[in-house]
Amino acid sequence: APNSSPASASSPVRVSFEFFPPKTEKMQESLWAAIERLAPLAPSFASVTYGAGGSTRERTHDTVTRIQSETGIPAAAHLTCVAATRDEVNAVAQAYWNAGIRHIVALRGDPPEGASRYQPHPGGYPFAVDLVRGLKEVADFEISVAAYPEMHPEASSPQADLDNLKAKIDAGATRAISQYFFDIDAWRRFRDRVAAAGITVPIVPGILPVTNFAQVQKFSAACGTTVPAWLADRFEGLDDDPETRKLVAATTAAELCEALRADGEQDFHFYTLNRADLTFTICHILGVRPPKKTA
Ligand code: FAD
Repeated sequence: APNSSPASASSPVRVSFEFFPPKTEKMQESLWAAIERLAPLAPSFASVTYGAGGSTRERTHDTVTRIQSETGIPAAAHLTCVAATRDEVNAVAQAYWNAGIRHIVALRGDPPEGASRYQPHPGGYPFAVDLVRGLKEVADFEISVAAYPEMHPEASSPQADLDNLKAKIDAGATRAISQYFFDIDAWRRFRDRVAAAGITVPIVPGILPVTNFAQVQKFSAACGTTVPAWLADRFEGLDDDPETRKLVAATTAAELCEALRADGEQDFHFYTLNRADLTFTICHILGVRPPKKTA
């Protein structure tokens, strides 16, 4: 019955939205249309990714500062260790602080295009934990870091990956945002291990509404996310049917969120891919709505 929907459970849901910096004028327009649609949902924050090797440095900066100044939503800048010295990274962070940005999502980053393995930059921050420490010396940023429910693919063991997460929190991070996942049992096992490790900061599930199944399958292999057979089955036969794919995407992500909600999760981070429709729908189902218009 709708009345027993987990979304109607006591404590309110909080959401955050992730965007990537637009490359073209046209992408810029669709990003802003998405931001304008999602902003009335009053997210806790909106974050903007940082392209491989700092390739989006200016665009990330411009997008982050514009979101904060034009919507009033607290904006977070992603920052990575890749292809830059500590001084260069610190200068990027200082510029954020000077522009009023107080929240950084601190990441190691993936190897730049062409490189197969991650190599710390000589004179750079080797890993995310080092970046967190360095950022705390630049200014008193709020820092979020990445977490991997199914383990980061380069980690030597799940325990080593968990130790790394703990180290990032001990270094000053106050929130972790998870890699996207579809297997809720893997997430629940991770949750138990996080709790057993004495980690008490929020670990926010990262939600990716999937419309392009082939692309996600390819990407998931690289980032260590399991793509369950049931998900492949849901998209089977829909290659030429984008409309149904979109409805399946919203339904599938909303089901995952409802199950997480029933587990007691209150915070959700959406990988929006710069589109509003799916994220807005899922938020609506979770009870996250724009303020009611007064007559
Ligand atoms: P780390 O926490 O440094 O861990 C990386 C790996 O190294 C792990 O396997 C860890 O166990 C291992 N490790 C840590 N310390 C050591 C050590 N001392 N010795 C040996 N191994 C060690 N990428 C981007 O380029 N731009 C983005 O904007 C971006 N945003 C993201 C947002 C989220 C929420 C997530 C989940 C990922 C994002 N990524 C982004 C991807 C991320 O950069 C990659 O997943 C990257 O491979 C790992 O980054 P990390 O911060 O988790 O690294």
